[in-house]
Amino acid sequence: MVTNTNCDGCGRTNTNKVSYTKKRYCNKCFLKLVEKRVRKDLRINKKITKKTIELLNDDSKEFRVAKQLLKNIFGSHKTIKEVKKLTKETLTPTNLDREIKLQLESYLNNKKYQKKTLCILDNVLEEEIITFCRIKKLAIGKKEEKNKLIENIEKKYHGTKFALSKSFEKITENLPKKDQKNI
Ligand SMILES: [Zn+2]
Repeated sequence: MVTNTNCDGCGRTNTNKVSYTKKRYCNKCFLKLVEKRVRKDLRINKKITKKTIELLNDDSKEFRVAKQLLKNIFGSHKTIKEVKKLTKETLTPTNLDREIKLQLESYLNNKKYQKKTLCILDNVLEEEIITFCRIKKLAIGKKEEKNKLIENIEKKYHGTKFALSKSFEKITENLPKKDQKNI
């Protein structure tokens, strides 16, 4: 059996593995992959509209990755203001695992999920954030408490987490306007 350890993006060696696909990425292609996904989310969902970006500094790995990505994406065009308290304008660093866990648990308990202001990295898996930190030598710190049900399904069917995230997005989009804020 031949094991391919070259990057699927550029063919270089020294590769990073992600659990949801057989593809491997070198450091450069991996960082590019994450940045591209975040850039797309910020653009499509119009998350950045002002010159100053208020970013919640909760001293998490998500904050450190978000800050780095925002700097890469906007350079000197935007100012990043680190804040400790949430306002309507604050961008909250999170990860996809946390978001789907909170939403699934709310649905299972028949409760409304109160989504925090605007989120960044809600389409990036925690494992990708950890790999990002390792490559960029950022502190990792606390890890997410996972949902067993989601983890078990993901193990059997790779890509479940992304699919769940998309489904919750669709559900929210199709709710009457007045309920959208509370999901
Ligand atoms: Zn590569």
